[in-house]
Amino acid sequence: MAQDTKSANTSGYTFVDHKFDVVVVGAGGAGLRATLGMAEQGLRTACITKVFPTRSHTVAAQGGIAASLSNMGPDSWQWHMYDTVKGSDWLGDVDAMEYLVREAPAAVYELEHYGVPFSRTEEGKIYQRPFGGHMMNYGDGPPVQRTCAAADRTGHAILHTLYGQSLKNNAQFFIEYFALDLIMEPDGTCTGVVAWNLDDGTIRRFSAKMVVLATGGYGRAYFSATSAHTCTGDGGGMAARAGFPLQDMEFVQFHPTGIYGAGCLITEGARGEGGYLVNSEGERFMERYAPSAKDLASRDVVSRCMTLEIREGRGVGKAKDHIFLHLDHLDPAVLHERLPGISESAKIFAGVDLTKEPIPVLPTVHYNMGGVPTNYWGEVLNPTADNPDRVSPGLMAVGEAGCASVHGANRLGSNSLIDLVVFGRAAAIRAGQVIDRKAAIPSPNQASVDKIMDRFDRLRHANGSTPTAVLREKMQKAMQEDAAVFRTQESLESGCKRISEIWTELKDVKVFDRSMIWNSDLVETLELENLMANAITTVYGAEARKESRGAHAREDFSARDDANWRKHTLAHLSEDGTVTLTYRPVHTEPLLAEKDGGISLAKIAPKARVY
Ligand SMILES: Cc1cc2nc3c(=O)[nH]c(=O)nc-3n(C[C@H](O)[C@H](O)[C@H](O)COP(=O)(O)OP(=O)(O)OC[C@H]3O[C@@H](n4cnc5c(N)ncnc54)[C@H](O)[C@@H]3O)c2cc1C
Repeated sequence: MAQDTKSANTSGYTFVDHKFDVVVVGAGGAGLRATLGMAEQGLRTACITKVFPTRSHTVAAQGGIAASLSNMGPDSWQWHMYDTVKGSDWLGDVDAMEYLVREAPAAVYELEHYGVPFSRTEEGKIYQRPFGGHMMNYGDGPPVQRTCAAADRTGHAILHTLYGQSLKNNAQFFIEYFALDLIMEPDGTCTGVVAWNLDDGTIRRFSAKMVVLATGGYGRAYFSATSAHTCTGDGGGMAARAGFPLQDMEFVQFHPTGIYGAGCLITEGARGEGGYLVNSEGERFMERYAPSAKDLASRDVVSRCMTLEIREGRGVGKAKDHIFLHLDHLDPAVLHERLPGISESAKIFAGVDLTKEPIPVLPTVHYNMGGVPTNYWGEVLNPTADNPDRVSPGLMAVGEAGCASVHGANRLGSNSLIDLVVFGRAAAIRAGQVIDRKAAIPSPNQASVDKIMDRFDRLRHANGSTPTAVLREKMQKAMQEDAAVFRTQESLESGCKRISEIWTELKDVKVFDRSMIWNSDLVETLELENLMANAITTVYGAEARKESRGAHAREDFSARDDANWRKHTLAHLSEDGTVTLTYRPVHTEPLLAEKDGGISLAKIAPKARVY
């Protein structure tokens, strides 16, 4: 396979060189689906991952994966598209959303054939449950059963299957390698990535014709998040340092039902199976706010309603600071069969037997709609004023790290897992088209590698006075307090100021461990720099956006403003922490014309978003 050569450089690091057609960074659902698709076509493919593939955050996905299979009642891709457009609060790119929902059924059947053990209906079809914001009849309802599930361990099932299939197709894995930065040519072409092998301390220069960022989200920029501690937005950090803008970062999803205190997730599938929320008066308050969808309104809506109930003094518990989720009215046999994992989480993290008592829950950071901008083939965009869709050669981004943008201002539950597999596959198809198999694999640009190693070396020897953990907590608290479910000019200005100050304080960071083997102190410092790139673009983008849309809810600008703000934010970050914002238009044209069975423009025209 790839030729590896070893050499040592003057600064004392040992380099090993690798050459591949494609290097995928990340082995979550998106990275593995891309890896598999590349390897299936005979492209020499490497997958680099900082954690063992099946420990990627995708493993924690519980509820399921959306596709209009119509196994449990009528459904269509057009309905799924309408819900996704509406869920995005009209910020998503319509072509990408259409690609997603049209490809979704085939992508799920493909997963079934690869071996994903989906739950079954009586007749043996894939089981589907209702999920928030997924409705019949172009949003008119009732809720549709669209979310395909393997009990409440859907991500686990998908990840294990895709890893096995990737191995079968001879993809080469580099496990517990930490990708540091992208190798760039002066003309902006990406030609590889530099990674650190945590186990033996060597530095690996991966050269490739295509690099795919599949590094997941940055939930850990916040204090309370459902995401794994490894969700540190490394791809966003790498892209920003390489000169790419980050798109729509101000849109951060809060999931209504994180377990109070612990932050662990109770899947929306719990409400899909009949669970409901109550306040301190025992009232099912969602009936008041969303008479049609009730507890299955979309996540941003439910999170805001819960926050309002708590603010108005109707929270539960001693401090009246959370809400109860009831599942105790459901048949214990159903809970056991459909939601075994959350029964366990409720017991461990809330000390609650959910067959008998309600679970204490609170809106918790869950998903990042923003990321590295791409088209619906996963190709990274580096827009110019003349060309807002300019493709940047050699680089792709898929999964939560990317922004295609199919989720716009708010993602519907179960639309992420489908995004991972549809766009992981699309990236592989596109790579097969654009990669010249006969061409030589580029050599690493020395100036670019030197710059990467200078930064690494500086952090490794950082000898200031503030430990990484102290700065990280400061950042997490600032984000949690100032860029939360509800935002104001005051809170966002405070957020910008606090995060910018922390950016300056990064110069004073202290790394205690100088070793190259399993140096978790240095890993966490590298992750903190990446988190900060995501956090700072989030707060500045949010401060600038003077409207409320999807997950970005401003108390001082409570209405959506399509005339001025139906556009994507592009946040450019410079080394000194200055954020410059530009914007690019939303794609509003469907792929398929109405006369050919496509959805009509009138159907998806912006209107008030009620559930
Ligand atoms: C608790 C929870 C439940 C969820 N449930 C659902 C659900 O039911 N349905 C749904 O649609 N969505 C769900 N989501 C959202 C969805 O699971 C995630 O958006 C999705 O799994 C992200 O997948 P990914 O492949 O982009 O990244 P991840 O799965 O996060 O994987 C990231 C990969 O990148 C690697 N990586 C990162 N940085 C580096 C680096 N510097 N060097 C090397 N490797 C690196 C990691 O090792 C990892 O392999 C859930 C999310 C959470 C947190």
